[in-house]
Amino acid sequence: MSTQQKVAIVTGASRGIGAAIAERLASDGFTVVLNFAGKATEAEQLVSKIEAAGGRAITAQADVSDPAAVARIFDAADAAFGGVDVLVNNAGIMKLASLADSDDALFDSQIAINLKGTFNTLRQAARRLRDGGRIVNLSSSVVGLKPETYGVYAATKAAVETMSAILAKELRGRSITVNAVAPGPTATDLFLSGKSDELIGRLAKANPLERLGTPADIANTVAFLAGPDGAWINGQVLRANGGMV
Ligand code: NAP
Repeated sequence: MSTQQKVAIVTGASRGIGAAIAERLASDGFTVVLNFAGKATEAEQLVSKIEAAGGRAITAQADVSDPAAVARIFDAADAAFGGVDVLVNNAGIMKLASLADSDDALFDSQIAINLKGTFNTLRQAARRLRDGGRIVNLSSSVVGLKPETYGVYAATKAAVETMSAILAKELRGRSITVNAVAPGPTATDLFLSGKSDELIGRLAKANPLERLGTPADIANTVAFLAGPDGAWINGQVLRANGGMV
């Protein structure tokens, strides 16, 4: 797939991994729709940066847990650019606690955003993506590691991996690939907030390359799957974690 004139929606693109993905896809030639939940200023600043570098981008505010709001992201892409070719399902939250200590709010919020949010965008993409398109869903390497306190979060990401593989089959005949990228610890707010320097250092050394992933590391992986070189990869989970699991 040539990236010229292709349109990509990236959810959760105001910061962290999603912002790096949006910037990378724009520099690869995609027109990018940057979804965000609340941080409009960050999203607008990234659009300005992309435009200053010669790219095309707009923002689209939407809580991905709301099906109607997700439909409006696709409507905005259709209205501005005539259609959608790529969906990167990146928006997500992480709340950690042992199962014994997990309250209903912890469970419900992660199900709503990580799982139902992914379902909402996948359903729209299955109906509306142009043939030859690409879908990349963000999972997590904790699906493989299964560490304590990640029970609900990892369960939402395991469900995302399962839906990815099934949608890849359901889109037979349309030349649309569906894959998941499963990062390990990556230096963003989601990973860093609430952790001690000691714990961050220990997790950084948990892989044989002995460092944290960067948002750009993950954006490189997503760009491969969304671009021409990824054409033959379908229904897979690519763990981008320096060899942690
Ligand atoms: P982050 O820095 O916390 O950024 C999260 C992004 O998601 C923000 O753009 C945020 O928008 C958006 N978002 C949150 N809730 C949303 C909602 N309801 N609707 C729409 N957007 C929403 O997180 P990150 O580390 O970049 O994580 C990105 C993805 O990678 C997530 O799916 C995460 O589970 C996955 N992941 C991360 C790591 C890691 O170590 N960082 C590892 C494995 C997997 P606002 O800015 O507007 O709030």
